[in-house]
Amino acid sequence: MPSLDARGVASLLREYAQRTALRGGNPYRAKAYAKAADSLAALAVPLHVLIAEDRLKEIPGVGEAIADIITKLHKTGSHPSLEKLRKEIPEGVLEMLAVPGLRPEKVLRLYKDLGITSLAELEAAAKDDRIKKAKGLGAALQAKILQNLAIAKSGEGRLHLHRAAVMLTHAKDSLRKARPELKRVTIAGDFRRGCELVGELTIVAETAKADESSKASAADGLQIRLSDRKHFGAALLFATGSAAHIEQLQAIAGEKGMRLEMDGLHKGRTLIANDEIAIYRALGLPFIDPELREGLGEVELALKGKLPKLVTDEDLRGILHCHTDASDGTETLAKATRQRGFEYFGVADHSKSAHYAGGLSEEEIAQQHRDADRLNKRFGKDFRILKGIESDILADGSLDYAEDVLQRFDFVVASIHGRFKLEAQTQRLLRAISDPHTTIIGHMTGRQLQRRPGYEIDIEKVLRACAKHDVVVEINAHPWRLDLDWRWHQAALDFGCMVSINPDAHSITELDHMHWGVEMARKGGVPADRILNAMALPEITRYFRQKRRSVARAA
Ligand SMILES: [Zn+2]
Ligand SMILES: [Zn+2]
Repeated sequence: MPSLDARGVASLLREYAQRTALRGGNPYRAKAYAKAADSLAALAVPLHVLIAEDRLKEIPGVGEAIADIITKLHKTGSHPSLEKLRKEIPEGVLEMLAVPGLRPEKVLRLYKDLGITSLAELEAAAKDDRIKKAKGLGAALQAKILQNLAIAKSGEGRLHLHRAAVMLTHAKDSLRKARPELKRVTIAGDFRRGCELVGELTIVAETAKADESSKASAADGLQIRLSDRKHFGAALLFATGSAAHIEQLQAIAGEKGMRLEMDGLHKGRTLIANDEIAIYRALGLPFIDPELREGLGEVELALKGKLPKLVTDEDLRGILHCHTDASDGTETLAKATRQRGFEYFGVADHSKSAHYAGGLSEEEIAQQHRDADRLNKRFGKDFRILKGIESDILADGSLDYAEDVLQRFDFVVASIHGRFKLEAQTQRLLRAISDPHTTIIGHMTGRQLQRRPGYEIDIEKVLRACAKHDVVVEINAHPWRLDLDWRWHQAALDFGCMVSINPDAHSITELDHMHWGVEMARKGGVPADRILNAMALPEITRYFRQKRRSVARAA
């Protein structure tokens, strides 16, 4: 029997993880298998090489025990324990684990009590109200299943940005180590386009030898395209996509009597292929940033010379909307923010109704403000802690504190954290937006990628209201949220909204999630001058002061 490649082993390991999870017992074991399977899918070196050289433990998440399992799966195509587990539960049952919010013990119950063995049967049972009536399952679970079935059917195999980044960086490093003769090694695919979920792990690498160029995969899991220097630009362009963008470029090439193919742009007898800029230039276009390459009008804008100047990480001057806790208090987080070169840190803990998340009482707010004042004296003029709060938007749309408390903050992020199914969700948001204390609307739709869809609101109406009341729209940079979706950014700009890129950080490492928010803003075509936290410290304090003055006027 031929040995299995990394992709094959990863898929068996994933199945092993799922079956282990269904079995119950130590949940960390199942998670460890799943994590190792992800790493395997992004291997830059063929699996058989790693096994032959006894280097499996270099793979992130692979220790002694998992290395043994991988070796057995690779050599025999299976594993005795996996075979044993397979006899217990039919394969289709595993599909149900892809439904967000459906825990393994519930999946097991759906199978044992109701005899459901596939996603299709699950959908039918939910629509027939059979889950609602079953003991231990119930109406809430049935509603969740119906809501999340679409995610289970569509999202499988796509990665959140920060996970994809870890995998691609590892792949890049190990490729460099395995083949030191490679010159440029560049990440391409939908990750380079800044897509909110990543489905293609693609790397383009420059080789010295022309005959080695290939568009085929060089490893088992991820796609590695090799190209010589002469064709590198064309290889990168095609490996980045999107298909729609490339097609539009090809149409322009056709109109100008040229041909754009995988090996480059053919213009008479010359071939333009060594870098992307040269290819765009020969087509009569400026360079189009990868994030814009979706075939959604960017080529027309480029033809008219009207491409937006996209924001960069360096444009951002401060961080707003961060949470503190016992281990990462205001001081620690502020210092970490300052070390990253920012000018201000906006603390915004949860408000008092958010008991579940340690919401602040009035006394705790007073204490936090005293701390901030004391620290600000020490920081001096070039760095400042700004006093904010993430106020729950209550069910009726009001904010979480009395007027006199709200007035003490530099800024208020107003967010919905519960009652997602309210009939009048849009009204609820509109009321919060019209409250003069509201500075920013946090994670507007509440979506969590591959976990739950956003709640039903009239986004256009909400954005228009934000523009009218000078309320800033958050681009929540947490890779699970990335909310407001980049597809709405242009509309927000057209209506006249400002946006703010906020990490919603709960720890020091999460401060760096800012980058994913920048990626989304770039994808949405947002320039720096429309971003609140691209303002320098004096500018943003003036902005907050003016907003507070308008509150006083409204009162
Ligand atoms: Zn929140
Ligand atoms: Zn938050």
